[in-house]
Amino acid sequence: MRKIQMVDLKGQYEGIKERVNQSVLDVIESTAFINGPEVHQFQKELEEYLDVKHVIPCANGTDALQIAMMGLGLKPGDEVITADFTFAATVEVIALLGLTPVLVDVDPITFNIDTAAIKKAITSKTKAIVPVHLFGLAANMDEIMDIAKEHNLFVIEDNAQGIGGDYISKDGSKKKTGTIGHVASTSFFPSKNLGCYGDGGAIFTNDDDLAHIIRGVVNHGMYKRYHHDVVGVNSRLDSIQATILRAKLPNLDTYNKARRDAAAKYNKAFEGIENIITPTCSCSCSSEMKENCVLHVYHQYTLKIVNADRDALAAHLNENNIPCGVYYPIPLHLQKAYLDDRYKEENFTVTNQLVKEVISLPMHTELDDEQIEFISTTIINFLAK
Ligand SMILES: *Cc1c(COP(=O)(O)O)cnc(C)c1O
Repeated sequence: MRKIQMVDLKGQYEGIKERVNQSVLDVIESTAFINGPEVHQFQKELEEYLDVKHVIPCANGTDALQIAMMGLGLKPGDEVITADFTFAATVEVIALLGLTPVLVDVDPITFNIDTAAIKKAITSKTKAIVPVHLFGLAANMDEIMDIAKEHNLFVIEDNAQGIGGDYISKDGSKKKTGTIGHVASTSFFPSKNLGCYGDGGAIFTNDDDLAHIIRGVVNHGMYKRYHHDVVGVNSRLDSIQATILRAKLPNLDTYNKARRDAAAKYNKAFEGIENIITPTCSCSCSSEMKENCVLHVYHQYTLKIVNADRDALAAHLNENNIPCGVYYPIPLHLQKAYLDDRYKEENFTVTNQLVKEVISLPMHTELDDEQIEFISTTIINFLAK
């Protein structure tokens, strides 16, 4: 059996090696390293893929979130509601801009922001909601957009883990994640579903005016050379990363399908195991749809281990050379940097529980049946003891 990896970037590279190598060499020959034609082409191709009017490439997914908030003109003191159960980047940029992060609990089934908790957290200072499509599953965007409309709030989708995923609204229309809110951010960190070979990110929006503002913000607040109209940042996707992303974008649907196929095999292997709760594929899926559900892109395949020792299981997997991860081991509201007297433990019962139960298994485009079989059997045998 091949060595099991949490993410297998090398195996994926083998499949696109010739195109990647040639296009990287071409960029080097062209010396158009910054803002070259490759960046522009990638932007166009991603706009087309997502069916969104504007993609603004930038340096990484954390910058993308920050720039989206700067573009919306959020000001110190404005409150921004986001999920307690996510990667820290989401809350970090809120705090960095002097905005007030308001963390709220998540749904125990989807792991995504709890819309009832959003409603409870809204005050006269609330300006935006940041749903995170955690682990590759869209948050409940219908309800979030309704809440935002009612209270006149911006919605900034953190799509770092969800790229390529779909969301089906209650009216039946299907949209790509990251194209539903007012603006969205994504990351091209190597292990993300569409990853480059370094750092990269992008902002998406259908709003022409906002896109214009953001194009200036990413470039030192310049709209005309050496005229700095707003305070900006320097955040660029370089041409080498863009050309690698151009090689990978045509494969994104195939890559996401490979992840879904692996998830389906894990799901099947864990059927009927009482200590394991497998991930749901959508907030609205019937069990019959579950078989061929195409909404989730499984950035992570995350189980809940109930009435069993999750940490002992993780240690056992590591002893058997099976990598695994706990995303995330500490809720954000308990992180030193983000403590706030206003938080009450009784409002975080779900995240407080999830951090004890979740475990993410190897998930990438190159997993084979033998590896999935070995991983699932090792887990099931351990839990049977
Ligand atoms: C990865 C990630 C980010 C940050 O992206 P970087 O490119 O690493 O800056 C932000 N939010 C979430 C949910 C992420 O998973």
